[in-house]
Amino acid sequence: MSLHIKPISAFEDNYIWVIHNNKTAVLVDPGEAPPALNFLKKNNLKLTDILITHHHYDHINGVEDLLAMYACTVYAPKDHRITFNHEPVKENDLINLSDLGVELKVTETPGHTLSHICYHNSDWLFCGDTLFSMGCGRMFEGTPEQFVDSLHKLKQLPDGLMVYCTHEYTLSNLAFALSLEPKYQALLKYQDKVANLRQLQQPSLPTLLQFEKSMNPFLRFDTPSIQKIISEKAQTTINSDVDCFAHMRRLKDIF
Ligand SMILES: [Zn+2]
Repeated sequence: MSLHIKPISAFEDNYIWVIHNNKTAVLVDPGEAPPALNFLKKNNLKLTDILITHHHYDHINGVEDLLAMYACTVYAPKDHRITFNHEPVKENDLINLSDLGVELKVTETPGHTLSHICYHNSDWLFCGDTLFSMGCGRMFEGTPEQFVDSLHKLKQLPDGLMVYCTHEYTLSNLAFALSLEPKYQALLKYQDKVANLRQLQQPSLPTLLQFEKSMNPFLRFDTPSIQKIISEKAQTTINSDVDCFAHMRRLKDIF
């Protein structure tokens, strides 16, 4: 049975990802219930599982209403701020989505929040607010050391993974990336492509992990070229990958 992964738009710029086989469905980070329920009803899908990456309201607020409608299992990180019934999962846990014939692995990625987790297999990465196309999440709770470790873990995953981020931030991330590297042709080309997609109200996601590894500045904190640019922009000496990431994240926060 063939599998489909589709974005359901929520709020201003969130995507609730749905994995389905035309019969049963799994939702990732349903921040609001109505658009998810509409999609399930319209496509005649039975919800079997929900995957949560972190506790922020725009990722979990739809869960209670969905639980009232479907007897489904919710997987989420262990965090006292997640109060609905769920199976807490941790590093290296395997989640068997048996109706879809899919197994996903859990990787802990603290940085955006302390208990943030990602889900992946050999084809997909659901990374919540840890990684965005050409950017990364804001560092609300973690330290630069933790965030760099988390991004480093994602960099170790296979190039061919498709990356399903939760927000449509690609164009604004590209504006920042191009402020660092204004003559980077591949970035300029990508900006054109994404601008066209957005004009047609198409999502820019998912993105390819290999593409992010080679172009996203927030995955290139360890390269001499980005370290040189950040040291110039932040007018400081960069002594480590963590230093580079911390200054880059700060520059983006005030961009
Ligand atoms: Zn968040």
